[in-house]
Amino acid sequence: MDMSENIGRHLAELVAFRRDLHAHPELKYEEHRTSDRVAQALRALGLEVHRGLAGTGVVGTLRGRGPRAGDPSRAILLRADMDALPVQESNTFEHASTQPGRMHACGHDGHTAMLLLGAARVLAENPDFDGTVHFVFQPAEEGGAGARKMIEEGLFDLFPVEAAFALHNWPALPAGEFGVRVGPIMAAANRFEIRVNGRGAHAAQPHTGIDPIPVACAIVSQLQLLVSRGSDPLDSAVLTVGVIEAGTIENIIPARAVIKGTCRTLLPETQARLVDGIERIATHVAAAHMASAEVIVKNGYPPTINHPLEARFMADVMAELVGEDQVERDVPPAMTSEDFGFMLEAVPGAYGFIGNGGVSHSCENLHNAGYDFNDDILGLGVTFWAQLTRRWFSRDR
Ligand SMILES: [Zn+2]
Ligand SMILES: [Zn+2]
Repeated sequence: MDMSENIGRHLAELVAFRRDLHAHPELKYEEHRTSDRVAQALRALGLEVHRGLAGTGVVGTLRGRGPRAGDPSRAILLRADMDALPVQESNTFEHASTQPGRMHACGHDGHTAMLLLGAARVLAENPDFDGTVHFVFQPAEEGGAGARKMIEEGLFDLFPVEAAFALHNWPALPAGEFGVRVGPIMAAANRFEIRVNGRGAHAAQPHTGIDPIPVACAIVSQLQLLVSRGSDPLDSAVLTVGVIEAGTIENIIPARAVIKGTCRTLLPETQARLVDGIERIATHVAAAHMASAEVIVKNGYPPTINHPLEARFMADVMAELVGEDQVERDVPPAMTSEDFGFMLEAVPGAYGFIGNGGVSHSCENLHNAGYDFNDDILGLGVTFWAQLTRRWFSRDR
C-alpha cells in the first residue's frame, strides 16, 4: 500500500478534525469533549480503548500482525497532549476559538490530530508491524503534570513499553524540517516563593522595626550570583524573579515582603544546586539583617532528557522522510519545559520537534494569541509516526 496516497485520502478529514479541536479548546484536566472525540475515533478504528487515567486520559492499543504482537515487552508508546491554554485568541479565521479566554496556543490540537486520525488510522488500516503500539492522549501538559498523574495512576503498569516517543510542533523550524538531540532537549522548571518576615514600623522610625524591603532587595540581587557566578557557563540555567510585593503606603514599613520567581535548568543536578542556593541565600541574607525568610519551592517539571539510542533512532526516521539536510540532529535545547520529561524518567525514549513555520504560514510563537498549528505539516507528522512505528519493530536488536 502506498502510504502517502493513503494519508492523502484522509487529509481533508484530518484538517477538519484539527480545526474542530482548535475551535473547542479545553483547559487542563477539563478535556472532556476532546477525550470523548478521541475515544470514539479510536473505537471506530477498532482499537482497544482505556479511559480514565488522570481523569480525561485516553489510551488506544493497536496490535500489529507479527508473531510478537501479543508480547507485552515488544510495545511502544506514542504520546500526544490534548489541553489548551488560558489565552484570548486574536485570530479571526473561521476555526478560531469559540471559548472566551481559551485557546490552543501550543498546537496540542495538531498533536492530537496527527497521532489520532492520522497515525492511528493509517496503522490500523495496515498493521504490518511486529509489536504493539499504545497511543496515549494525555491531559494537562500545560502546568498540570498530566503525564506524571497518568504514571502515578498506573500507565506503565497497565501498558508496559520498551520506549516512549513524542513530537512537538516548533515554530522556529520551517515546515518540512525536524529537530531532535541526544540528552536534554527541554529544561526543568521550578517555581519558588520567598517570604521575608521583618517587623512593621513607622516610616520615620526605622530603628524600631525590621524593614523587609531592603532585605528582599538584597536577596534578589544576591540570587543573581547563583547563575552568573555559581554555574558552569556551558551549562544553561536561568533564574528570574517575576514578582516582588511589599507594603501598602509610603509612610509605613511593612512587616513582610514576598518574592516569587522561577528557575530553569537542563540538568537535574544543576536544578538541585539552584534550589539549595535559593534557600541558603534567602535565609542567610535575611538573618544578616535580623529578619527571617521562609522559602517554598514548588517542584515543577524535570528536564526532558532524550535517551541516546531512541533519539538517534528518531533522527534516522526523520532523515529518511525529509533528507539529512532537513534534520537538526543536535537542535538547540529550549529553556521551556515539558511534562514528557516524567515519561522519560520512567522509560527510555525521545522527544523531537517538527517544524511549524513556513512560507504560507507565518507562525507566531507558541503561547502567542496569534499562533495557529500549520495544517500543511499534518501529513508529514502522520507519515513520521507511521514510519517510526514500522522501523522500530523491524530494526535489528
Ligand atoms: Zn505549551
Ligand atoms: Zn505544548
